[in-house]
Amino acid sequence: MYKSFAIVIALLISLSSVAQNLQSPSQFLGYDLGTKFSRHHQVIDYFKHVAEAKSQQVKLESYGETNERRPLMLAYVSSEENLKNLETIRENNLKNAGVLNGKPTANTIAIVWLSYNVHGNEASSTEASMRTIYKLLTEKQAWLKNTVVIIDPCINPDGRDRYVNWYNETASVPYDIDQQASEHNEPWPGGRPNHYLFDLNRDWAWATQVESSSRLKAYNKWLPHIHVDFHEQGINEPYYFAPAAEPFHEIISDWQRDFQTQIGKNHATYFDKEGWLYFTRERFDLLYPSYGDTYPTYMGAIGMTYEQAGHGRAGLGILNDEGDVLTLVDRLTHHTTTGLSTVEISSKNAEKLNTEFAKFFNNSGLKYKSYVLKGDTDKINSLMTLLDKHEISYGYAQGGKVSGYNYATSKDGQLNASSNDLVVSTNQPKGKMVKVLFEPNAKLSDSLTYDITAWSIPYAYGLDAIASKTLIPTNTNKLKSIPRSISNSGAAGYVVSWNSMKDAQFLADVLKGGFKVRFTEKPFTTQGKTYERGSLIITRGDNKMVEDFDDKLVDIAFSHQRTLNAVSSGFSTSGPDFGSPDIKLVNPPKIALLSGDYTSSYSYGELWHFFEQQLGYPVTSINTNNLSNTNLSKYNVLIMPNGYYGSFLNDAISEKLKNWVSAGGKLIAIDGALNSFADKEGFGLKRNTPEESTQDKEDNRRIKYADRERDYTKNLITGAIFKSDVDNTHPMAFGYSDNYFTLKLGSSSYSLLDNGYNVAYLGDNPKNVSGYAGRDALKKLDNSLIFGEQRLGSGSLIYMVDNIMFRSFWENGKLFLVNSIFFVNNNLHEL
Ligand SMILES: [Zn+2]
Repeated sequence: MYKSFAIVIALLISLSSVAQNLQSPSQFLGYDLGTKFSRHHQVIDYFKHVAEAKSQQVKLESYGETNERRPLMLAYVSSEENLKNLETIRENNLKNAGVLNGKPTANTIAIVWLSYNVHGNEASSTEASMRTIYKLLTEKQAWLKNTVVIIDPCINPDGRDRYVNWYNETASVPYDIDQQASEHNEPWPGGRPNHYLFDLNRDWAWATQVESSSRLKAYNKWLPHIHVDFHEQGINEPYYFAPAAEPFHEIISDWQRDFQTQIGKNHATYFDKEGWLYFTRERFDLLYPSYGDTYPTYMGAIGMTYEQAGHGRAGLGILNDEGDVLTLVDRLTHHTTTGLSTVEISSKNAEKLNTEFAKFFNNSGLKYKSYVLKGDTDKINSLMTLLDKHEISYGYAQGGKVSGYNYATSKDGQLNASSNDLVVSTNQPKGKMVKVLFEPNAKLSDSLTYDITAWSIPYAYGLDAIASKTLIPTNTNKLKSIPRSISNSGAAGYVVSWNSMKDAQFLADVLKGGFKVRFTEKPFTTQGKTYERGSLIITRGDNKMVEDFDDKLVDIAFSHQRTLNAVSSGFSTSGPDFGSPDIKLVNPPKIALLSGDYTSSYSYGELWHFFEQQLGYPVTSINTNNLSNTNLSKYNVLIMPNGYYGSFLNDAISEKLKNWVSAGGKLIAIDGALNSFADKEGFGLKRNTPEESTQDKEDNRRIKYADRERDYTKNLITGAIFKSDVDNTHPMAFGYSDNYFTLKLGSSSYSLLDNGYNVAYLGDNPKNVSGYAGRDALKKLDNSLIFGEQRLGSGSLIYMVDNIMFRSFWENGKLFLVNSIFFVNNNLHEL
C-alpha cells in the first residue's frame, strides 16, 4: 500500500516535470521548423503540447470541424492572471462594445487575434504560428501582462493538407529551386480553397462554409481589437503589410487608419534592421466586407492583411526572378516577426485600443436608421439566418407607410409595411456592419479596387426594401412555423406554390422519394385559389405506385415547411386542368457537372456545394480530361461552370456536345464557358462589340504611361448591380417577377438571341444601380443578354452570362438554375 502510493507520487512528480518542459516547435516536431511542411495534425499536436506544458497561460478550444473532419482550434495565450480571468476580460470587452449590457469592471487588456493559413497553399504562416506561440511564452512574456492573444493556427486545414500532401509526394530531395519543376506548379484545383473549393477569405460576410460559420461564433464571442490575416503573394513581391490601399470604406474611423499605420511602422523597424524589403498602401484595399481584414474592421477591430512572398509556388525553396532563393525558413521568419510586432505594439497601446474600440460602436451619425424589407417569407427567413450568424438584431415592422430610398426604383419612395416585413436598424452595436451590408451603394473613394464593389443585401436576396432616415419601431421577431398539412385521402392531388429555394429543396426530395411531379406552365385557379406558373402538382393518379402516398408527402412537405394544398378535382375553375399539355411532368434529370482543368475551381466548387449542401440533388462530376470518352447519353443535363476553356472545345468535343444537345440534352453554360460558344456556328450566341469611334481611338493613343492603369478602369465592371427585364412566362424564370437585379462580375456582353428565348436581359442605356461600371463597359451593355435559352434539335443550350453562384451569396439568382434543370424544355426524350 505504502509502496504503491510512493510510486504514484513519483509518477506524478515526473509527469509534472515533463509537463513543465515547454519544447520549441523544432524539438517537438523532430526537424528544424521550415525544413519540412508540417501536416495539420502535427500542428494541432504541438499546440496541445504547448497547452499542457503551459496550462496556466494557454487554453485550447475547439470551435468546429471541417468537411473532411479536421479540427478547428483556437489557442488563448496570456499571463497566468489574465488566463484565470479570461471570461471576465471577454465580458468586459463586449460590455465596452455595448454588445453585453452593463459597465465593464476594467478595460486595460488588448485583445489580438492572429489567423493563419486561410489560403491552404500559403503554407508558411501555420509554421509561423508555432514559432509565434513559443516566442510569446518564452522571450515575450512581458507583453502578455496586458494582452490576450488568440491564435488560430490554421483557418483552412483541408486546403492546407491538400497542399502539403501534394508537395510532400511531389518534391525532390533536396528540393529543386527551378521554377519549372513540378513541385512549384500545383495541379487543379490547388490548395488555396477549402473542401468545396471556396475561397475562405471571401466568405466572412456570407459564411456559406462550415469553417466561416463556426469561426464567426467564436469571433463574435470576443470581438478582438486587432485581427491579422496571414497570406502569401507572388514569389517576387517581398512582403506587404498594412496600412492598406484606397478605397477604404467610409465607416473606417480615423483611429483605425491611424493605428494601421502605427502597426506598419513598428514592423518596418524590424524589417529595416534586417534589410528585408516590403511595401504598404498598395493593392490591398478595404472595401468588400467578406475579407479577413475588412470584416473585423467593420466589427470594430483594426483588421490587417500580411502578405509574404511565396504562395503555392514556393515550396521549401525557389529561385525568384531576381536571382534570390526564397526559402520556407525565410517566409515563416518574416511572418513570425510581424505577428510578434503586432502583439508588441498592441500591448504598448492597450488602454488606447480599449477606449477607441468603445467609440467605434457609437452609431448615432449614420444616415440610414432602418432598413425595411418586404418579400416572400422564405427569402425573409433565409436573410434572418444570415443575420443570426453575425449576431445582428432585427424585428418585424408594426405596419404603416415607410418612406425613404426605394431599392426597386433607385429613388425616394414609399412602402406599405406589414407585420411580416423585416426591419434591420443601425442603432445597435453592429450598426456599422448593418450599413455596410444593406446600404444601396457603398461610397467608392477610388475605382481601382481588388474586388467587387456591390453586394447590397436587398438585391442579393430579392427583397423590396426602403432605407429610412428615421428609426422604424419593431415588434420582436418570432419565426413562424408552418403547420403540418393534413393528408386528404379524397384529394385528386396536392398543389405547392413555387417561389424559393425551399420549394426547390422540397421538389428535389419528392423526386428522390420516387414521386411523379407535374408543374404548370400557365396560371390556374381551383377551389378559389390561383396558382402561378411553376406551381407543383402531385396527383394521386400519377403516384399509384407510392405506398402511403398522402402521409409520405405530408412528411416531406412538413420537413421543408411547405404547405400542401389539397385539391379535390383535376378540373380547374380557370386555366389548365391537371391533364392539360400545359401541365407537364418533371422528368427527373440526371445531371453531370464538368470539373478539372479549364474549369474555374471556384465555380465548380460553388455548384458542387449547391447540389450537395443546398439543393440536395445528385450530380455526377466529370473531369474535362475524360469528356471525350464519356458516354453523355447517360445524362439529361450537363453544366459547364465558369472557366477558361480556351482550346478545350476543339472540333471533336464541339461536335459531341452538339450531337448530344440535338438528341435532347440540356447544356447549361455559365459565365466564361460562354466564350466557347460565342460567334460559333450552330450556337446562336454573339458577342456585343460596339465600334470604337475615331475620336476614342485618337484619345486612347495619347494616354500617358503613368495613367494607363487608371484609365483602363473605364472598360471594367468590378462587380456592379443592374436591373434586368425578365420574361417570367418562360420556365427558366418561374417564381420571379418581371425584374431581376443581377450582379455583373465583368464587362463581357452578348447580344440578345435572334432565334432563342431572351429570359433576362438589359435594355437601352442600362445603368448600374450599385457598384462601379466604367463608361466604355456600360456602352457595351446596351440590349445585352443575361440569361437565355436556345433550342438545338430536341435539346437546349442555356446561357447564363452572369454567374448566379458566385461565392454562393446571391440568393435570389439560384432559382434560375433550378428552373433550368427541372422545367426548361422538360421533354421526355430518351437519350
Ligand atoms: Zn492569401
